[in-house]
Amino acid sequence: MRVGVISDVHANLTALQAVREDWGAVDDVWCLGDVVGYGPRPNECVAILRDIVTVWLPGNHDWAAIGKLSVAEFNPAARLAAEWTGRELDTTTRELLEALPERVESPPFTTVHGSPRDPIMEYVLDVDVARACFDAFTTPYCLLGHSHVPLMFIEDDDQRVRGWQLLPSPPFALDAVRRIINPGSVGQPRDGDPRASYGILDIDGAGEVSFALHRVGYDIAETQAQMRQVRLPDSLVRRLEVGR
Ligand code: ZN
Repeated sequence: MRVGVISDVHANLTALQAVREDWGAVDDVWCLGDVVGYGPRPNECVAILRDIVTVWLPGNHDWAAIGKLSVAEFNPAARLAAEWTGRELDTTTRELLEALPERVESPPFTTVHGSPRDPIMEYVLDVDVARACFDAFTTPYCLLGHSHVPLMFIEDDDQRVRGWQLLPSPPFALDAVRRIINPGSVGQPRDGDPRASYGILDIDGAGEVSFALHRVGYDIAETQAQMRQVRLPDSLVRRLEVGR
């Protein structure tokens, strides 16, 4: 079974479409949250994913847009975008986002948006946080998003934790070593590579699992034009072309 793993689409319809074309045929899609916020096409992105996603977690921007999370902690541009998104969402989208579970365990995977300790808000970006997070789930692997940086952390038999940034690669086997994997962001990458980022899990009949990270270019200017048209903040428009 081939599973497309996406996170942080952020209402970037052009990037989402490019990812779907790039991965070809998949049997399932798992979405690690923040489908909306920042970008110009929130309802359209949710409508596409509604038909193909089976494991779907909410992110902080999804909750902010439906009023389930205060935007007081957001920076000014993110707050403006969240408020715009909140006004833009149709009832179907809103109801779908309201019903998403914060954490899904489907062995061998635990899936969350932020971290297994704090599924909505915590960023897992360094080994100290990752070490604490390995204690907060019991399955072999945890898939998460939120930081917009493709990363992997592993915990070896001595509970030693190491982590590194993921680059596009051929599939590699997920063996007995426990792992935290972030497939990066479809709609607003922040690792300096502006191309959309996603993962492909391959689960064979014997339960053996492999993972590969993919990057695909998309028409960034098209998304930027859509953002300018609805007057989303210029800082959010410009960051897409630098991937920061
Ligand atoms: Zn995000």
